[in-house]
Amino acid sequence: MGCIFCEIINKRVPAKIIHEDEFVIAFEDINPQAPVHTLVIPKKHISTNLDIKREDNGLLGHMFQVANKITKDKGIAERGFRLVMNCNPESGQAVFHIHLHILGGRHMHWPPG
Ligand code: 5GP
Ligand code: ZN
Repeated sequence: MGCIFCEIINKRVPAKIIHEDEFVIAFEDINPQAPVHTLVIPKKHISTNLDIKREDNGLLGHMFQVANKITKDKGIAERGFRLVMNCNPESGQAVFHIHLHILGGRHMHWPPG
C-alpha cells in the first residue's frame, strides 16, 4: 500500500532499529534534527493522530513508555527531550503512519519552527 514505515516494519526497507516488540518498533531517523532523533511507531498502520481510536489507547501509552526507555538508554531523560507528533500538512507531516519523534541531546528552542 506504499507506506514506507510499514515497509520498515516488514523489513523490506532497512532501518537502524533499536527497539522492537509485539506492538511497536523504534528506529533512528534517516535525517536527524538533533544528536538524538529516534522514531517510535506502532506496527498497526494508523495514518494520522486524528485516526487514533479509543481501542488504540493502550498502544499509544505503550509508545510513550518505549520512548521513555529510549531516553533513559540514551542518557537524555534527565537532561530533557522533546516528543513530537506532526499531524497533517501544515504541521509538516510527511509520512502518513503515525510516529513519535524523540528529539534530544541539544537545547530545544521554543516556540518550535
Ligand atoms: P514527519 O515530517 O512525517 O513528522 O516525519 C517523518 C520523519 O521520517 C522525518 O524526520 C524523516 O527524516 C523520517 N523518514 C522518512 N523516511 C524515512 C526512512 O525511510 N527511514 C528512516 N529511518 N526515516 C525516515
Ligand atoms: Zn504504514
